[in-house]
Amino acid sequence: MRVKFRFLFFVAVAILCAGFAAQAQELGPGFTKIKDGIYVFAPDATTTTCSFVVTQEGVVMIDSCNSPLDSRKMFAAIKKVTDKPILFLIDTETHSDHTANHFIFSPPATIINHAGAGEAMKKEFNPKRTETLAAKSPEMRAALEGFRMITPQIEYKDKMTINLGERTFELIYLKNVHSEADTVIWLPKERVLFAGSAANVRTFINLRPSVVISDVLASYKLMKSLNPEVVVSGHGPVSTTKIFDEYEGFYTLLLKRVGDMAAQGKSLTEIKKELKMPEYADWHGQDRLGANIDVAYKSVKK
Ligand SMILES: [Zn+2]
Repeated sequence: MRVKFRFLFFVAVAILCAGFAAQAQELGPGFTKIKDGIYVFAPDATTTTCSFVVTQEGVVMIDSCNSPLDSRKMFAAIKKVTDKPILFLIDTETHSDHTANHFIFSPPATIINHAGAGEAMKKEFNPKRTETLAAKSPEMRAALEGFRMITPQIEYKDKMTINLGERTFELIYLKNVHSEADTVIWLPKERVLFAGSAANVRTFINLRPSVVISDVLASYKLMKSLNPEVVVSGHGPVSTTKIFDEYEGFYTLLLKRVGDMAAQGKSLTEIKKELKMPEYADWHGQDRLGANIDVAYKSVKK
C-alpha cells in the first residue's frame, strides 16, 4: 500500500512537471521558459529578443520586441501566464528594434533606461518607420494601432536596483558598447543576465562609430564576473557566457589583423578590401564586417 502511494505521488509530480513544460510551449514558437516565472521570446536566430519576469508584485519586461506583431504576441503571452500588471519595462539599449513598441505596454508599464536614452531615441527617431511598416500587411497595420514614441520615464545613473516582491533586478550601465545608453539586467538570486547587444549569438554586430572595442571587451569581463548561469542577449536564442568568449576571440583577432595591416602602412580602404575573417564564415550578418573594421581601425590608430 505504501509503495503504491509513493508511486501515485511520483505520477502526480510527473504530471505537474509536464504541465509546466507545456506551459511555455503554449505561449507559441520562440518562447522559452528559462526559470520559474522567467520567459524569453527569441523569434529566430537573429531577431531582437524580449523577455518578461513575473514577481509577486507584478511583471517586469526587458525590451519591447522587434516588430509590433512580436509585441502583441508578447502581450498575449504575459496575459496567459499571469493576471498581474506590467509594472516596469527596462530597455537594454536605445535602438528602435528594442524600444519602438513601448506604446503597447506603457501605460501601465514605466519605462527605464540609463541617462541619455530618451534624448538618443528622439535623435534616432525615423518618422517614416511606422508608415513603412504598416504598408507591409493589414496585420502589421492593426498591430501599430495607437503608435506613439514613448521615451523612458525613469533614467538612472550608472547603477540602479529594483526590489520587487521576491526578486531583485540590478541594472548596470555599460558605456560605449552598443548604443547611446546600454543597460544589462542582472538577477543575482536566479543567476540570469539580460546582457543587451554588446554580444549577440554568432552574428556580426552593426557596430556604430561610437563603440569602443576596449570598452566592449571590458564589458564581457564584467558580465562574466557576475557568473551567470543563463545569458539572454539582445538578439538570438538563450545562451551562456560562452557568447562573451566567442566575441572576445573575434574582436581580439580583428584588432590583431587590422593592427598588423595598419602597421604595414595600409589604408583603411585597403584593409577593408583585403581583410577576411574566414574563422567566422558561419556567423550571420557578414555584410557588417566593414563596419567592424571601421571601429577596429579607429581603435588601433589611437
Ligand atoms: Zn541595437
